[in-house]
Amino acid sequence: MTQQTILPGQTIGILGGGQLGRMMAIAAKQMGYRIAVLDPTEDCPCAQVADKAIVADYADPDAAKEMAACADVVTYEFENVDVQTADYLQTHSYLPQGFRLLEITKDRLNEKAAIQAAGLPVVPYLPVRNEEELEKAIRTIDFPSVLKTTEGGYDGKGQYVLHDQADLEEARPYIGKIPFELEKWMPFEKEISVIVVRSTTGETSVFPVAENIHRHNILHHTLVPARINEKLHAEAAQYALRLAEAFHLVGTLAVEMFVGTDGKVYVNETAPRPHNSGHYSIDACETSQFEQHIRAICGLPLGSTDLLKPVIMVNILGQHVQPLLDKIPELSAGAHLHLYGKAEAREGRKMGHLNILGATVETAIADAQKLAVWKI
Ligand code: ADP
Ligand code: MG
Repeated sequence: MTQQTILPGQTIGILGGGQLGRMMAIAAKQMGYRIAVLDPTEDCPCAQVADKAIVADYADPDAAKEMAACADVVTYEFENVDVQTADYLQTHSYLPQGFRLLEITKDRLNEKAAIQAAGLPVVPYLPVRNEEELEKAIRTIDFPSVLKTTEGGYDGKGQYVLHDQADLEEARPYIGKIPFELEKWMPFEKEISVIVVRSTTGETSVFPVAENIHRHNILHHTLVPARINEKLHAEAAQYALRLAEAFHLVGTLAVEMFVGTDGKVYVNETAPRPHNSGHYSIDACETSQFEQHIRAICGLPLGSTDLLKPVIMVNILGQHVQPLLDKIPELSAGAHLHLYGKAEAREGRKMGHLNILGATVETAIADAQKLAVWKI
């Protein structure tokens, strides 16, 4: 595919109209691009800020045609892009990120193999595609461990934490019907992540390392700079760059890692798109992950990823929306509210996030705690 420079005034097509698509669109619109979004839901978060919304199933061939007719470049906000749609857009439009990386990262087994092939450590794992493989995996990996569906999992969905044989019962009906992998439970010091972006011109940039705190497997809050030593900061950035190179990345790659209690860094999983743990960059970095992504796919020079101030990013889930709205008069001067325009505030649903900048991570945390919406 010949590299093209896409200039403001031209149209960026986005597959998927959730919050990631919306924040990509906002960054792009700021630079003067036009946006077309494909999503089956009317008035989805991205459609609210787009110039054109194609409301159709992702696999609808007419929708792919309509997208190709209006977009000068196409990108995506999620892993599970329909193969036929991607294939059509690759031929009839400009899809600089290609399709190969999606195929690697949407399957945990492929992904782990690719990470290992890049020379990076992962937690011990084995495939579980039938009863025999399950027995073997339990014998080898033992408890505690975690059984994960190889495809389609997010926010801990499709995962079973196993302390003993009894914990297997819930998952047993699915064994042999859908593919799983069994992973050793990793006692970790910290969970961290790094966003790396590579443009169509080959220019690469890395964002500061984020420290992530999950609750019920959902990202609860992110702290930047991560509270780890300099050596680990450098190592995490190096790992992300290594993967960008090994994966022939174009666009954005989020790399989730564990810092084990053994002091070593292990790669947990990757996502070929902007990531929840990079939302802090909207207010705390010179260039946000979304602007950087747009620059990368449009072939523009990348921006500086320097951290302007320490920050905490706290996710606003369904149950936090009203308590937070009640506290708006108490927001500190460094607080920046982002809401995604979702109609229904269901429990556990990601509705927005709050970035609070501070002189230090500790003062930012203290400001978040004062709101008493979350227990930080
Ligand atoms: P998802 O696709 O749902 O984000 P992850 O593999 O990242 O799936 O798992 C979600 C969270 O569950 C992780 O961020 C981590 O907190 C916990 N987790 C997952 N795998 C392990 C493991 N092997 N050891 C310890 N904790 C884990
Ligand atoms: Mg994860």
